[in-house]
Amino acid sequence: MDRLEVLISAIEHYAYCPRQCALIHVEQTFDENLFTMRGRLAHERADSGETTTEDGVRVLRSVPLWSETLGLRGRADVVELRPEGPYPVEYKSGGRRTRPAELQLCAQALCLEEMLGVEVPRGAVYLVRTRRREEVTLDAELRAETREAIQAVRRTLYAQQLPEAPNDARCPKCSLINACLPSVVGEPFRLRGLQGALFRPVQVASDV
Ligand code: SF4
Repeated sequence: MDRLEVLISAIEHYAYCPRQCALIHVEQTFDENLFTMRGRLAHERADSGETTTEDGVRVLRSVPLWSETLGLRGRADVVELRPEGPYPVEYKSGGRRTRPAELQLCAQALCLEEMLGVEVPRGAVYLVRTRRREEVTLDAELRAETREAIQAVRRTLYAQQLPEAPNDARCPKCSLINACLPSVVGEPFRLRGLQGALFRPVQVASDV
């Protein structure tokens, strides 16, 4: 069987919630909420593909990336071509840097390293809400975690099954809450009750 290709964006989805990753990348479910709208707006300039020069540094936007060895492909919002080497920047709509965003950034760096044959020791997450750029050191621990996440996404794609719903603090912010129904499927007792009701025979009046 051919090795399935993993999208870089799926790594962030998986790190946020494995079920979210499967809903999007196995079942092709997508829904929009305030958080995804903010994310889309945050990416508007980065997605323009525009190339500029800022303070003498060439800035590429919406850069296609791939890695043959990892079976990975996707895009970087921004890659700055600094004298010391390429420097990826991932745009996020929120005001706080998250581990899933760091894993996504690290996956971009791993692609750049393979594509260009250079080291990419650092990158940054740009937080649109606070207009703050936070530098991320792409150390051995983050790289190992990213490689493990790539494998986990690939296992999810092969399994073609939805993982269990954690039904926790992540769910209210998740755009897929209506498709996922975590409060129902995350509680087996409630789910069994609903399944029972679904298959209960309907009484039909005899004189109709
Ligand atoms: S609603 Fe919760 S369990 Fe369902 S995909 Fe989103 S985060 Fe995961």
